[in-house]
Amino acid sequence: MGIPFFPPATFAGMKTNGSNLDRPASSMRPPVDPMTDILDRAPPRTELSDAEWRRRLTPEQYKVTRRHGTERPFANEYHATKTPGTYRCICCGIPLFESDTKFDSGTGWPSFTRPVSEAAVAEKVDRSWFMTRTEVLCAGCDAHLGHVFPDGPPPTGLRYCMNSASLRLEPKG
Ligand SMILES: [Zn+2]
Repeated sequence: MGIPFFPPATFAGMKTNGSNLDRPASSMRPPVDPMTDILDRAPPRTELSDAEWRRRLTPEQYKVTRRHGTERPFANEYHATKTPGTYRCICCGIPLFESDTKFDSGTGWPSFTRPVSEAAVAEKVDRSWFMTRTEVLCAGCDAHLGHVFPDGPPPTGLRYCMNSASLRLEPKG
């Protein structure tokens, strides 16, 4: 008589890509908080219908994150914010940027030198508007976050130019 197998619980109403479910038990790590332990591995996936995203988000958040929009410079929540904390995805909640990598780019959008980890974001060539840019997406839910440019300050020389509407700042402490 074996122990009955129960699949791991998933978030109510969310689908996962199952990537964590296929591994043999011997390779499983000890239980961790999936929202913080993503420094070196793919974050948990959140996949919802377009209608469900539209229901959960404000019209501005929906337009930016699910329709690849761009909010207005300066007239957005976090462009000048210096509050210490973690910027999470507005859609799925995974950590994306830390406040100590934020800098004043003068562009009117929140700008960072790097994400919390390489695994937190996905990058994609964007040829819209007669330009070639690198689009930055949330690796947890494919939300459009903004673009990355090679004109940032040290140590990376990169400028992750983000939309405030894609982010939610969780203050430290
Ligand atoms: Zn996300």
